[in-house]
Amino acid sequence: MTRFVVTGIFLLCSAVVTAAVLVSVEEEIEIGRAANEQMRKQVPEFTDATVVKYVRDVGTRLVRAAPGEKYPYTFSVADLPEINAFSLPGGPVWIHRGVLSRAANESQVAAVLAHEVAHIARRHGADRLTQGMVAKWGLGLLGALLGNTGGAGAAQAAASLLTGGVILKFSRLEEKEADELGMSVLTRSGWDGRGMVELFQTLQRQASREQSSVDAFLSSHPSPQDRLANLSAQLSKRRGGTRDSARFRSVKAHLARLPTSRAGR
Ligand SMILES: [Zn+2]
Repeated sequence: MTRFVVTGIFLLCSAVVTAAVLVSVEEEIEIGRAANEQMRKQVPEFTDATVVKYVRDVGTRLVRAAPGEKYPYTFSVADLPEINAFSLPGGPVWIHRGVLSRAANESQVAAVLAHEVAHIARRHGADRLTQGMVAKWGLGLLGALLGNTGGAGAAQAAASLLTGGVILKFSRLEEKEADELGMSVLTRSGWDGRGMVELFQTLQRQASREQSSVDAFLSSHPSPQDRLANLSAQLSKRRGGTRDSARFRSVKAHLARLPTSRAGR
């Protein structure tokens, strides 16, 4: 469980970026679906209808501006208190309840989702999956798994990899790309790009308050300062757009009246 909490926006980093993605889009979607089933057993899901509907509506608006394949994107809420989110190959996006309760405005929530949509649109999970599978089984067995079982082998492989957390750790380059594309998706969907910058400022403040939780993260991860500087530079071209909404404020008030997150007591 802890592994999934520390990945996502606050991602660990591996040094290598592979060029080849050996998994087809169809396999990727199937793998993501299987992995998401697995995820539902490991992550406490927040099912309040008002909150979930809101997240899906924001997500759907972002997806319209996402480049690349038309993945079957889905949006779920994890009943976890941190500011974090994660995505799986081929469409599934999860956002922590903590993002909704801690965000100061709607554009910050949309920014988190846009970052995860960008990982999927750029096939970062498929890339990670390929690397993980090659490392674990070798190229020959990977080909056999994906080639002759009509997708069942791929799904099985994904489920087994997911338990090791392999596909959730993106590289530094992939994070930078998701930041940049996420900013573009966010603003093209009509939200104010400042939401993305504010989100990183909040993460930075959180990191300075809870140093012990980020020591390992800082040893291998692109520094939040670098990402913030990069995004701020991009922002100068992307001002304007929706910053907040009455609906977000109403969802936030609704959330505040509900019992606190199961994992956050
Ligand atoms: Zn990311």
